[in-house]
Amino acid sequence: MLDPYRRQINYLRISVTDRCNLRCRYCMPEKGIKFMSAEDILSFKEIYDFVNVAVDSGIHKVRLTGGEPLMRKGIVQLVEMLASIPGIKDLGMTTNGILLNRYAGDLAKAGLDRVNISLDSLDAGNFHYITRVGKLENVLDGIKAAREAGLNPVKINCVIKDKGLDENAAKVKDFGEKNGMQVRFIKEMDLESGVFSVVKGGDGGKCHICNRLRLTPDGFLKPCLFSEVGYNIREYGYREALGLAVGNKPERGSLNNINNFYNIGG
Ligand code: SAM
Ligand code: SF4
Repeated sequence: MLDPYRRQINYLRISVTDRCNLRCRYCMPEKGIKFMSAEDILSFKEIYDFVNVAVDSGIHKVRLTGGEPLMRKGIVQLVEMLASIPGIKDLGMTTNGILLNRYAGDLAKAGLDRVNISLDSLDAGNFHYITRVGKLENVLDGIKAAREAGLNPVKINCVIKDKGLDENAAKVKDFGEKNGMQVRFIKEMDLESGVFSVVKGGDGGKCHICNRLRLTPDGFLKPCLFSEVGYNIREYGYREALGLAVGNKPERGSLNNINNFYNIGG
């Protein structure tokens, strides 16, 4: 699928839930979150059917995200369903890693290829502060399990402040280097004010080569993270929604006051 700016759209990021077992300060408020209601959340069948149509239209890379994707009940089954679609060349997941020790083996068996694990600090106290509730050792166990399960590559996502690598990020960088894992540094973004920048070590934030669409847990297909445009796939139908999202992909991101990182998936 070519968009109006001649970008080849072949990558779909699916946020499978807006729930999360962490409360990272830059992503979610501590309290008062209005979660989507159960009947609005896409079923596995709806996701599977939509992805089939998307693959038929040229999508070949799919990533599951959230909220926390491992909080979605039956996630291994969804991975298995998506992995069975022949046109998907690359099936990945972005996770906070807290539950990965429990799931990595089953996810790999179900056909997940790769995983990005979010890790902002290797200091247990700082990690707990940033995530408000998280235990660092759970993530480290998750990283180990992902590698042992043969998920490949295992990459680390590290959110940094504007000023560059602080002590936390520098230690994550060393950890990645010592263990042969690529670390992607993502500058903290703000959807409301439209503050975003290029992801170091990744392709995010480069509007001129952006190849992505995003599907929210409640079925809105969004052409851009930093835009309020979205098409309800239930309302428009799968093929029509795809055509609209690709045809209306903005040249570059601006701002988004209607989504949050925890429901659009970053
Ligand atoms: N819960 C999973 C996780 O944390 O990896 C997946 C969803 S999370 C929204 C996806 C990515 O977005 C994570 O790597 C997270 O660090 C990043 N993220 C969340 N809020 C952000 C923000 N305000 N600016 C930049 N990245 C952010
Ligand atoms: Fe949850 Fe991921 Fe957001 Fe942290 S960044 S609160 S782990 S969705």
